[in-house]
Amino acid sequence: MIPFIDLTRQHAALRDELLAAAARVLDSSQFVLGAEGQALERELAALCGVRWARGVASGTDALRLALTALGVGPGAEVLTPAFSFVASASTIAMVGATPVFVDIDPATYALDVAAAERSITPRTRAIVAVHLYGHPAPMDRVVELARAHRLAVIEDAAQAVGGAWAGRPVGAWGDAACLSFYPTKNLGACGDAGMVMTDRADVAERITRLRHHGDSGRYEHVELGSCSRLDELQAAVLRVKLVRLAAWTEARRRIADRYRAALAGVRLDLPTEAGMARHVYHLFTVRHPQRDALAKALTGEGVCTAVYYPRSVPDQPLFAGDAQRRWPEAWRASREVLSLPCFAELSDGEVDQVAAAVRRVCERL
Ligand SMILES: *Cc1c(COP(=O)(O)O)cnc(C)c1O
Repeated sequence: MIPFIDLTRQHAALRDELLAAAARVLDSSQFVLGAEGQALERELAALCGVRWARGVASGTDALRLALTALGVGPGAEVLTPAFSFVASASTIAMVGATPVFVDIDPATYALDVAAAERSITPRTRAIVAVHLYGHPAPMDRVVELARAHRLAVIEDAAQAVGGAWAGRPVGAWGDAACLSFYPTKNLGACGDAGMVMTDRADVAERITRLRHHGDSGRYEHVELGSCSRLDELQAAVLRVKLVRLAAWTEARRRIADRYRAALAGVRLDLPTEAGMARHVYHLFTVRHPQRDALAKALTGEGVCTAVYYPRSVPDQPLFAGDAQRRWPEAWRASREVLSLPCFAELSDGEVDQVAAAVRRVCERL
């Protein structure tokens, strides 16, 4: 079988360096809020072109704390795409605000900016834009809309570190941006970790407090925070990997090009890359009206695939919405999308095998 993702290949190649990094942390025995975390924050801030980065416990916490740091709480409405990982919306509910779902642009899976504009009410306070699958949302238009209505902008960049829109890095557009280092993300830790990126000193300062029980320093707790730090072992692991990220992204983009060439003329929709976008192919996601049959047949051909996501966010039992009626593009995407294997260590031969299997199956369907 060709795996959907195989992290053991990455970790076998980096084994000695990762063990040395872990040993360095063990020898220092500083495990929380130390030199590795600070170095990682500086390095990622530079990559994203922002002044500050603050490590937190997960991508979910990055979103939750960024919302709080931007003053989003009870009574606020926050616009968020109806098709994403659940955390893009559930974190809005966690801070006591109301997620207002916006349908997506079916070509890029980003929130439809015109639909977002129609959803603005006097209670709207922020927009959470998601760079789904690694394709950046149209941030110039998102920021323009937000400015016109005095809304905060948060980028959910969990899937898009290293990407860019209009030549400007993902993470540098919003009032805050959130990264996830969940192991399968393009930059993955050996456990959970996340980060908030921002150019705003006030936001960076507030995240620093919120991640550490609202502590303003020396056990003076000035607001309700939580315990949400990125630990030193994860930071050390991530620093080993960060120096490879650019090469890994290039590898993902080459795989995408190879799939595109090999699948030309096959009756299925390939992912698009908007003219202003630099896509980092966290996922290479195709669409087919008979998605489930395609996935099943590919398993039979020895190819593992995955569905991100089989339900739109409002259709989750948690939100109990009716996507088919109100967010039809999100609903349709949830029934049609299928992600093919796409990770830096996938060989050209494997890509060719996957593409040949997809071609064979699509001719039969
Ligand atoms: C992974 C992910 C998150 C959450 O990150 P965790 O580190 O798993 O908490 C949020 N949004 C999107 C789009 C994601 O893919």
